Amino acid sequence: MEVKNVKGTRDIFGKDSTSFQYVESVMKAVAELYGFDEMRPPVLEHSEVFVRGVGEGSDVVRKEMYTFLDKGGRSLTLRPEFTAGIIRTIVQNKLYATADLPIKQYYSGPVFRYERPQLGRYRQFNQFGVELVGANNPTLDVEVIVLGYTILATLGFTDVTLKINTLGDDKSREDYKAALKDFFSQHIENMCPDCKSRYELNPLRILDCKVKEDQEIVRHAPKINEYLSEEAQERFEKVCRSLELLEIPFEVDDTLVRGLDYYSETVFEFHYTSKKGQNYGAIGAGGHYDKLVSEFGGPDMHGVGFSFGIERVVNVMSDDEILPDNPNPLINYLIPLTEDENDAALMIATALRVAGYRTEICLDGTKLGTMIKKAVKKNAKFAIIIGESELEQNSVLVKNLSTSEQELVGAGDLIEYIDSILESEKHECECCGDDCDCDCDGDHEHCCCGHHHKKED
Ligand code: AMP
Repeated sequence: MEVKNVKGTRDIFGKDSTSFQYVESVMKAVAELYGFDEMRPPVLEHSEVFVRGVGEGSDVVRKEMYTFLDKGGRSLTLRPEFTAGIIRTIVQNKLYATADLPIKQYYSGPVFRYERPQLGRYRQFNQFGVELVGANNPTLDVEVIVLGYTILATLGFTDVTLKINTLGDDKSREDYKAALKDFFSQHIENMCPDCKSRYELNPLRILDCKVKEDQEIVRHAPKINEYLSEEAQERFEKVCRSLELLEIPFEVDDTLVRGLDYYSETVFEFHYTSKKGQNYGAIGAGGHYDKLVSEFGGPDMHGVGFSFGIERVVNVMSDDEILPDNPNPLINYLIPLTEDENDAALMIATALRVAGYRTEICLDGTKLGTMIKKAVKKNAKFAIIIGESELEQNSVLVKNLSTSEQELVGAGDLIEYIDSILESEKHECECCGDDCDCDCDGDHEHCCCGHHHKKED
């Protein structure tokens, strides 16, 4: 029987897996720099976590959740997003009472949405994001936006479009929803069935409709900024001023409302079109929320967060060739010439790995030339040949595969020898300016920074 992967899921292996790991590691490292810690909520939650958290009016809850009854008859859902689960965890564990406020968490992992698979849209995909909970301050909205922007800059993105908008406070939104209801009442008869239920549940969601004819009607709908209270207006202006001060370029997009119901005040999206013109939609998005914590039985607390779609980030980086070729290169490829040298190879490999060097042993036992070719194919830095005569001298033969030079090195001096060669090859990289040991030689296409652009870009 031929069994294939489920529609909308992807097998991630080989180079793709390396790219995912690289992107996630940069995202985590930058979030740590901003003082965030990791949280790993379960993939499975009681369905009401999302129904109440994300909102009954959202497309995610109405149409896209993987919901099922378990053998005990409970309605469970595979998480379609992280925020609701993170807030449920914070409230259930009363972190707001024991942890310093604001609580700052980052997360990474798979989410599930029953959507029509297409470019950049999967049914199982991965998100990385952050939540900052327990303080209400527009400066924290900015802090979170800057974190997202810095992650993209660190990954090598230039020309990211940051779109921001405000959904205002409760009063602004209630007034706006009333205005939308009034406006759509003359059109709703001719709109799609989804919009008809959105009209009843939450007219704001009509603004996300993807049906062309409906979008034309939406174009003429009233805009939120006409309904903002003075406080909401001031708060948004503060956010814009801080972003300007930090020289983070942004566009105010008064049509941006986000698809999840919990947002209030500041909302934002990061957009990027690849150099070939491929637009994957938003690569990351987020905003401020003020009811989620109390919705789950916690105190009245605000939060702000964002989420990146890792597949989309990897896809655009791959299109624009800004992924590093080999972020975790193989340093040593050990070649015992016969079985008699296998144990020595195991011991030497252990020492090299303890010293932090990625190391493999070749147990093929074929011709030396064939095994060296394999080392070259694996892009190893050194082939370390272990034969009878070398072992008699308690040594190994180290071949530097980038220079083809080879040297007999005492087994006890091997790590120091590898350290010194790698150290001597470090230079101030002409491309990224880092003290690194890549062979780019000013050839920006091959710089270890992976950014593939000139320093002056
Ligand atoms: P959201 O949780 O809807 O705000 O989405 C956050 C980010 O997740 C988006 O900006 C996308 O990058 C990504 N994303 C959302 N839906 C999908 C999907 N079906 N497939 C892949 N990535 C997605």
